[in-house]
Amino acid sequence: MKKISLKDYAAVTRTQNLEEIALLAEKLSGLTVKMVNSTSMGGGVAEMLHRTVPLFNELGLKVQWDVIKGTGAFFNVTKAFHNGLHGNEVEIDDKMFEVFLDANESNASNMRFDEDIIVIHDPQPAALIKEKNKTSAKWVWRCHIDTATPNLRIWNFLQQFINKYDASIFSAPSFAKELPIPQYMIYPAIDPFADKNRDLTKQEIEDVLRKYQVPTNKPIVLQISRFDRLKDPLGIFETYKLVKKHANCRFVYAGGTADDDPEGTAVLAELQEKAAGEEDFQIILLPPFADIAVNALQRTATIVMQKSLREGFGLTVTEALWKSKPVIASAVGGIPLQIINGLTGQLVHSVEGAAYQVRYLLNNPQVAKKLGQYGKEHAREKFLLTRVIRNYLLLFIALQHPGKNIIEL
Ligand code: UDP
Repeated sequence: MKKISLKDYAAVTRTQNLEEIALLAEKLSGLTVKMVNSTSMGGGVAEMLHRTVPLFNELGLKVQWDVIKGTGAFFNVTKAFHNGLHGNEVEIDDKMFEVFLDANESNASNMRFDEDIIVIHDPQPAALIKEKNKTSAKWVWRCHIDTATPNLRIWNFLQQFINKYDASIFSAPSFAKELPIPQYMIYPAIDPFADKNRDLTKQEIEDVLRKYQVPTNKPIVLQISRFDRLKDPLGIFETYKLVKKHANCRFVYAGGTADDDPEGTAVLAELQEKAAGEEDFQIILLPPFADIAVNALQRTATIVMQKSLREGFGLTVTEALWKSKPVIASAVGGIPLQIINGLTGQLVHSVEGAAYQVRYLLNNPQVAKKLGQYGKEHAREKFLLTRVIRNYLLLFIALQHPGKNIIEL
C-alpha cells in the first residue's frame, strides 16, 4: 500500500483540521509514547493502532507499539473479563485473577517503560501499572469497551489498577465511571486511506467476490464481525429467516477470529450448523489481514448490519457509513453515536425490528440511498482518524499540565 502522509488527508477533511494538528504536534515534538495492547491483529483496537502510530511519528512524536504475550489460559480469562465488563453473565473465580496477574507480571519483567507517556489499551495489560513507580512516565488507561453495566466483581478487581493511572479514556459518555482519576472521551475512528476503506477498483472488488464465491444476483445484506456471541451471529441468522419469508436477498456473515478471542471457533461451528443447507445464507471465514476483502464486501453490500448485543464502538459501522451504505444496527454501545435513527441509518432493538428494517430498505432504495449519503457525511465530520490524532495530542498536552483546567498553548 502507498505510504500515506498527513497531508493526504486534505482530500477527506478540512485543511484547517490538519493545520491545527500540526500546531499541536509542534508542542510535543520528541515526546516518547508507548502504546500497549494484547493483539496485533483482529478487532478494532489493533486496527486503530496500525493506523495512528505511523501518523504520530510523522508528526514528530516518537510512538512505539508493544503487544503483550499470553497463554491460552490468560486469554480465556481476559475474554471472560471482556464479556463480564460488557454486562454478560460470566463465572469468575480467584484462580482467574491469579492467571491475569501472573501474565501481567511476566510481561512486565520483559518490558521497559522508559517513555514519557504509556498508554495501556483495555483490561488485558491493565495490571502493568504496577511498574509505574519505577518510571517517571504518565500512565493512561484507554478503555475501548462498553463498561456501562459491568460485572462488579471484575470491575472492582480492575479498578484497583485503574485508580493508579494518571488518566483514563473512554469511547462514549455513557461508559464513564466513578473514578478518582481524570476521564477523557475519545470516539474511535477509521482511516479512509487504509486498505479497508480506500476506494477499490472494479477489478479488486470482483477478485474478492470470485475468491469467496459471493454471487451478486440478489441484494446482499452483510454483517462483518468476529465470530463472537456479542456480535449476535445467531440473531443475524434469525433475521435472515424472517426476511426470507418475504424478500429475495442473500445474507452474508463474514468474519475471522482474533488472537485474544478463544471462543471464535465454537461460535463459527454453531452458526454453520444452524445455517446448513440455507442457500442464501453465506458464511465466510476471513483470514487475518483481509482488509481488501472486508472493504470489497462492504462496498458490494446493499445493506450493512451490525446486530451486536453489546458493542464498544463498532468500527464496522463507521466503515460502512464511510462507504455510503445504509446501516441497520442495534442501539448498543457506541452505535447510537454513529447512527442517528432515520437520518444516518436505522437503529433496531430486536430480530423482528431488524427484519422489518431490512425489508423496508430493500423496498425503499431512495430512503436507503439517503441514509447512506448522510451517514458518510456524519462519519466525515466525526469519525475520521485525524480527529483521534487531534484528541490524543490534546490529551498529551493536558497530561503535561496536571491539575490545570485551562492550558494556554
Ligand atoms: N474485522 C476484520 N476482519 C474480520 C472481522 C472484523 O478486519 O474478520 C475488522 C472490522 O472491519 C473492524 C474491526 O475488525 O475494522 C472490528 O472492530 P469493531 O469495533 O467493529 O469490533 P471489535 O471486533 O473491536 O469488537
